[in-house]
Amino acid sequence: MTRRERILAELGLTPLWLHRRRLDSLRTASDSPRHSTSHVTMPEPHTGQAVRPVEVMDWKELTEAVATCRACALHKNRKQAVLGVGDKEADWMFVGEGPGAEEDARGEPFVGQAGKLLDNMLSAIGLKRGNNVYIANVVKCRPPGNRNPAPAETQACQSFLDRQVALIQPRLIVALGKVAATTLLACGGTLGSMRNTVHDYRGIPLIVTYHPAYLLRSLTDKAKAWEDLCFAVETMSGLSTAARSVG
Ligand code: URA
Repeated sequence: MTRRERILAELGLTPLWLHRRRLDSLRTASDSPRHSTSHVTMPEPHTGQAVRPVEVMDWKELTEAVATCRACALHKNRKQAVLGVGDKEADWMFVGEGPGAEEDARGEPFVGQAGKLLDNMLSAIGLKRGNNVYIANVVKCRPPGNRNPAPAETQACQSFLDRQVALIQPRLIVALGKVAATTLLACGGTLGSMRNTVHDYRGIPLIVTYHPAYLLRSLTDKAKAWEDLCFAVETMSGLSTAARSVG
């Protein structure tokens, strides 16, 4: 940031309206991962309108921002960014890791083999994709070769996920796998050590279970995932009872 930009920012005189050529040079610089979860406010080149910070975006703005994001290198190989799918007023939010090849092609999370298992897991507890359920991922662009997203990539994408949660305001979040759990809870640790606990993500209860892709390879842990889902249902009904007794 230049001295002039710093002073303008201090005075609350942002967003800065930049010459198109200067904006392009800034955008190229942003190809490297950001180390802040807060996106810079910049003018939108197509419309000339200022882009608001992610933290205050509505769904339309968020969808556009994710679709055009170039904050980390993952954008280079994507067919499309995958924001999420489901009921935007859902009580339940499930968060995975990042799109795979099928999700990248179809633009919807969890539509491959792991997605079929997730749908079965939902159905086992009386839920259905899109009906009181919202599904999202930590990163919105496919990591090449289905590798785990790198910390800089999860960090670059985190404000999008935070905003999705803030807009949906689910009553319960289920983190699917270690990447989702450690990103949302900003902590380390093994997945096993994070199970069987009601965590807190910005005031919303969060439960950790195994990632469906892992469960496809590890049948023995399916029983544990079932316990986690029962725990999630119990937690959700506890929340409903508490809400009723308060109301
Ligand atoms: N694995 C994930 O974590 N998310 C998807 O959308 C698909 C597979």
